[in-house]
Amino acid sequence: MDRRKNNTLTDAELLDNVFTELGSIDYRKQIKFARYSEPLSNIPYLCERIKSARKLIPNAQLAIVTNTDYLKPIVLDRLREAGLDRIYMSLYLRRREKWSLELAHTHTEKLAKKLGTPILTRRATPRSLRCTFSYDGIELVSACINFAEYGTDRGSTMEQYTQQERLGPCREPFETFVIDYTGSVMPCCNLRSDFPQHQDYLVGDLSKPGTSIFDIYAGRLAAWRRSMIGFDSKGSPCATCKHRDVPDGLVAQVAAHTKKHLYQIGRKDLYKPPDGR
Ligand code: SF4
Repeated sequence: MDRRKNNTLTDAELLDNVFTELGSIDYRKQIKFARYSEPLSNIPYLCERIKSARKLIPNAQLAIVTNTDYLKPIVLDRLREAGLDRIYMSLYLRRREKWSLELAHTHTEKLAKKLGTPILTRRATPRSLRCTFSYDGIELVSACINFAEYGTDRGSTMEQYTQQERLGPCREPFETFVIDYTGSVMPCCNLRSDFPQHQDYLVGDLSKPGTSIFDIYAGRLAAWRRSMIGFDSKGSPCATCKHRDVPDGLVAQVAAHTKKHLYQIGRKDLYKPPDGR
């Protein structure tokens, strides 16, 4: 959440409970400290949480997302020591700057200089520049994106992005488990428990003693996943969301794959084919 207006820290015990549950299944995928907040605004607290996660879930990949304001060489060293694996660095333009690939390269090079980490690879498209950097022990990746051309409607809250209907399935509730700083669990990264418009979409609350991430995953989140599997119109707040929609060129392949799996598990009732796409 906004680091200037809200400095609330996520409860350490709540996080440790989540890490312990994930450790119990030897979780080996990614845990990302992010979510409309700046994790580096309290570096000692972040390092403690990373150390705890490292201990309780030794095989997970630990990552943060930062806007790089507080990132310095000494901070990189501390994060490596704590056990962090990857840093996603989001580069934003200054007020009144207009995105161009040239400007994206300039901001990226400035970051490389500030951190003392040479740029290893650059992947440019007409609306983004993504780079990797050389630093021993932590993978560093940056993204500078033209948000004037690429953006999602954040659960129907940003009108400028609500022009197109969403028909494709959404992978978010299948691939992510999103916990807000309060312990509220949301179906995807676009929905926020602090937005009054999104209150109805809370699927669980880990601040309640005894609440398990596994119960939430198999409970209300399961219903959400079922509603996201088909190539059909979606209800609010997904009706015009473009986030991770299926590109036209992959519709046939994704549809065939989805159909095969739904039939295999005896849920052909959930299969909604892509008419006319
Ligand atoms: S369609 Fe958008 S709002 Fe809906 S679950 Fe997916 S990412 Fe979230």
